[in-house]
Amino acid sequence: MFYRSTRNSGVNVTSAQAIAQGISEDGGLFVPSEIPSISMDDIKKLGDMSYAERALFVFSKFLTDYTEAEIRYCVEGAYNTKNFDTENIAELAHLFDGTYMLELWHGPTCAFKDMALQILPYLLTTATKKINLDKKVVILVATSGDTGKAALEGFKDVEGTEILVFYPDNGVSAMQKKQMTTQEGNNVGVCAIKGNFDDAQNGVKAIFTNKEIGDKLAENGMMFSSANSINWGRLAPQIIYYVSSYAQLLKDGEINAGDKINIVVPTGNFGNILAGYYAKRMGVPVNKLICASNANNVLTDFIRTGVYDRNRQFYATISPSMDILISSNLERLLYHISGEDDAQIREWFGKLASEGKYEVTDAVKAVLKDEFYAGCCDDEKTKATIKEYYDKYSYTCDTHTAVAVSVYEEYVKETGDKTKTVIASTASPYKFSGSVLSALGKGTDADEFSLVEELGKASGIKIPESLASLKNKDVRFSEVIAKDEMKEFVFRSLGVK
Ligand SMILES: *Cc1c(COP(=O)(O)O)cnc(C)c1O
Repeated sequence: MFYRSTRNSGVNVTSAQAIAQGISEDGGLFVPSEIPSISMDDIKKLGDMSYAERALFVFSKFLTDYTEAEIRYCVEGAYNTKNFDTENIAELAHLFDGTYMLELWHGPTCAFKDMALQILPYLLTTATKKINLDKKVVILVATSGDTGKAALEGFKDVEGTEILVFYPDNGVSAMQKKQMTTQEGNNVGVCAIKGNFDDAQNGVKAIFTNKEIGDKLAENGMMFSSANSINWGRLAPQIIYYVSSYAQLLKDGEINAGDKINIVVPTGNFGNILAGYYAKRMGVPVNKLICASNANNVLTDFIRTGVYDRNRQFYATISPSMDILISSNLERLLYHISGEDDAQIREWFGKLASEGKYEVTDAVKAVLKDEFYAGCCDDEKTKATIKEYYDKYSYTCDTHTAVAVSVYEEYVKETGDKTKTVIASTASPYKFSGSVLSALGKGTDADEFSLVEELGKASGIKIPESLASLKNKDVRFSEVIAKDEMKEFVFRSLGVK
């Protein structure tokens, strides 16, 4: 299996190359040249395996240039109880009849990003060895809050790497900010920018694809890579938990072999839901992929109409990790469903860059309609949903997960669909204690650590040690820069003149 660029089907690299590089030189994203399939027998067998073993099975289909021993080293290093607070790694909680919460936040930073970012450093350092890359890898990250911390935790003190993270100054929760500004490690840098997530992401992409900057790094024995979901090494690990959930539901007798399930995903950069799409294409029986957005509902409109238009108001919401108007991974989806037409992708994404808008063909619109359902919900509805589920099911959702729950309810009301459903729960409610407590009608004036304690009493969920311990940590990174100063920050941090 090889990896192609969405903007040039002629590009042909191994998975190790794709993961080390992060993004293709033409600005396109790496996609597998074919989507491997798994049988229902395979899925049944996975039911008796640990999460790490399930991961080994799925990775071996995609990373065909890695040896089994290499993949085993990666999955065992990442998916263990040293890093995750549950042996199952991803928990599948029963919410009510036929509806399950796939809790993806049991890792060290309490958001689903850990599922991929705990393993990415292993995949990446293995890749650089495989391809004899004798360079320091500089990971550049733009974050809407959760990726930054998860990437910092994953890469801190990993030999041969350096990591720099940019976050929107007023676009993350108090806890998210505290997590990043107190980061430990000798190869880390964190910086706030005056702008929103799209500004940060565009800045990072521009640095990546700037030849002059790349040459400068090369002169100094370094190269860039990415820990954002534009990197295939972020996406592949996310496919695993959808395959794993199906195997688990089957093993637990909740479904019969071949039964379809719906998957609901609170969506921002379209990475998590795209992983669900890949799982479906591999053979996991999926009915609808339900794409849930907050007030930044560019994807809702796109899936419903086929017109992508980012020229709209940007809202800072209580689900900040989804405050995004340019969803990078849509490019991968469109590449696959447009028949791998790279010229078409260049046209659409060229228009997105120049006009902020493009419209897909009728054929693509039809596939979108068939595979996906899309909906959105504002902050008020998000809070009402948190309260409703707390009262009705004694389940405390974080703000992002609540967006998914709300859109799922709307979907059921509209369609009457009774298909069993897995809802991706993407963050621990403790990361957004203030908003969650306010939804429950409780105090919101206290500092983030008092809020955590108050939420602990209200929810009964164990307070994650990784969050509680931040209270006594010193702030190491407090710099705020303009969005056109990112390049200078990178050079300065790396000691490049
Ligand atoms: C990143 C994130 C999302 C959005 O995921 P995408 O893969 O970017 O669509 C949703 N919820 C939380 C808590 C996140 O951290």
